[in-house]
Amino acid sequence: MSPSMNTKTIKEIVVISGKGGTGKTSVTAALASLGPQKVLADCDVDAADLHLVLAPKNIRTEDFVAGERAFINTDSCVDCGLCLEHCRYGAVSEDFQIIPENCEGCGVCAFVCPEDAAVMLPRTCGVWHVAETRFGSMVHARLGIAEENSGKLVTTVRKTARELAEAQGASLILTDGPPGIGCPVIASLGGANLAIAVAEPTTSALHDLKRVFGLTKHFDIPLMVIINKSGINEETAKVIRDYCKDNGVEVAGTLPYDKAFTQAQINAMSVVEYDPEGRGKDLAAIWERIQTRLNQQDQ
Ligand code: SF4
Ligand code: SF4
Repeated sequence: MSPSMNTKTIKEIVVISGKGGTGKTSVTAALASLGPQKVLADCDVDAADLHLVLAPKNIRTEDFVAGERAFINTDSCVDCGLCLEHCRYGAVSEDFQIIPENCEGCGVCAFVCPEDAAVMLPRTCGVWHVAETRFGSMVHARLGIAEENSGKLVTTVRKTARELAEAQGASLILTDGPPGIGCPVIASLGGANLAIAVAEPTTSALHDLKRVFGLTKHFDIPLMVIINKSGINEETAKVIRDYCKDNGVEVAGTLPYDKAFTQAQINAMSVVEYDPEGRGKDLAAIWERIQTRLNQQDQ
């Protein structure tokens, strides 16, 4: 563990972006390979891809259960049709089967069923794992197709990551957050020590960054920005830098567009591992600025 890190408090950094495709996961993987002992959390539960680089070996797997879903026991069903008549969500078929993706779990069918054939069962919405990677333990998850409750699954991932960090004496939780600014992002940010927004120099990315800034300001979470692929539009990169300066947001670093990022991903490596003398040095400098910012919070 780096002696400059606060060993008494577990810090949590969440890497976010206003939308997908900004290089957020590449940056998270690079930061994962730097710094002190840490626990990794992939909170992009709708489209997790940190595992593609980190190749985690799962050591624990749990179903993610949230709420209930109806089930009809055909042995005791007498085809009276009351469940179909009363379900407001179109979740009971004409032959009295539950259409799972339509079921809202309201329980009305079970309430009206005269034979107790319609019952409510726990709803398995996804799965989450505790895994080992070459950079430390990692918690990651996948929400089922068309399932909701991603905010709750994010909360489960973060809670498990914190328990692991406490048990291991790790000083850092590094989280790959979901894209956007919706409920899962809010669930991934609450109580974090620092948010790092990865932004591309495009007009839409600037718009997204403004929304991210509003979100972190609302929740009083310090924000740093990494401008990725700066070379694709230096002019807009400058607009982003100016926006950050005007709003007191520190730019942790600027990364050029570089095929090394893609090559690193193809080879299931972080760019720090793939290109240690090139982009790896850029990321190391960015990590130093992040660590300095974290340390300032203890002063
Ligand atoms: S629990 Fe509610 S939504 Fe689901 S099938 Fe029964 S009545 Fe329909
Ligand atoms: S209300 Fe109960 S008995 Fe009637 S059709 Fe539905 S499941 Fe079958």
